[in-house]
Amino acid sequence: MNIKYKCPDNKLVSPEDCIKDCRMSHRCCPSAMPAHVNKHTRSWKGKLSVTQALNPTTQIYLSINNDRIINLQRNIYSMLGTINHSRHEAGGAHTDELECEIFLEDELNAGTTDQLQCVDGKYYLRDIKNKKVMQAKWILDYEKIGDKDYALPTWRQTGKKLKDRDDVVMQMNRYRMLLEKSRGITIEGMFMDVVFIDYSPTNSPSRFGLKYQYYGVPVRKLDDDFVLDFYKKADARIKHALKNGVDKFCYEDDDWKEFGAPGNRCNFYCESKDSCIEYFKKIGKDHKYA
Ligand code: SF4
Repeated sequence: MNIKYKCPDNKLVSPEDCIKDCRMSHRCCPSAMPAHVNKHTRSWKGKLSVTQALNPTTQIYLSINNDRIINLQRNIYSMLGTINHSRHEAGGAHTDELECEIFLEDELNAGTTDQLQCVDGKYYLRDIKNKKVMQAKWILDYEKIGDKDYALPTWRQTGKKLKDRDDVVMQMNRYRMLLEKSRGITIEGMFMDVVFIDYSPTNSPSRFGLKYQYYGVPVRKLDDDFVLDFYKKADARIKHALKNGVDKFCYEDDDWKEFGAPGNRCNFYCESKDSCIEYFKKIGKDHKYA
């Protein structure tokens, strides 16, 4: 699998060529830095990463079997998250209570978890998520965490299904299991550390009722068998796809309509969209969002 960058005129260019000299009249980024940062390939090593398994099979299949096409302009935004993680990692190295970026693996999955925190001999798993203030409302409403509960928020399951939130719960529980097994420890609690990347001290409190720029949202513990079953099924699906190919668009199963945003996954959250259009064209199917 190779990395290709998509120029503003939709032409593809290799990272090396992009770094050496921009083929357009001027760079789409302020410098060649984003081209350097994104040039590393992720090769398929025969097992799904904890995060990768959360995606639909077609999306995973195409990301494994095709070149990865990156729009550097769009990717700059996601670098904010990477920078935030790096800062936490660098800071965590100076404390006794945090261990950051821990690589975990078993026979089924591999992945790197953000932070393991140890306070008074008890272990907590923490995952940093960058969210926009607009997204905060549903996260905090969902968990019923108001400012009054901020210091010691309690998990209250509402039964309301929110996909992104559910993905985080599944992902963190799988990391919990990998950590507990490899280290022989018990994780007492898991937290999604929501950091607002567009928080403003003057605007956000009045418009959204947010006092803080960060909220630690507790993540519920799931039954181990339930989590393992989810990951085993994802593993079986991708193995079947790698052997037989795929014949279904992701949106045929889930179009994100329930979030009021049909097509958003294809248009904004899929690195394989170009490959997808080409792949399905070959088997006689037109992409709804091409
Ligand atoms: S473009 Fe849409 S249908 Fe195609 S792989 Fe990506 S998410 Fe799936």
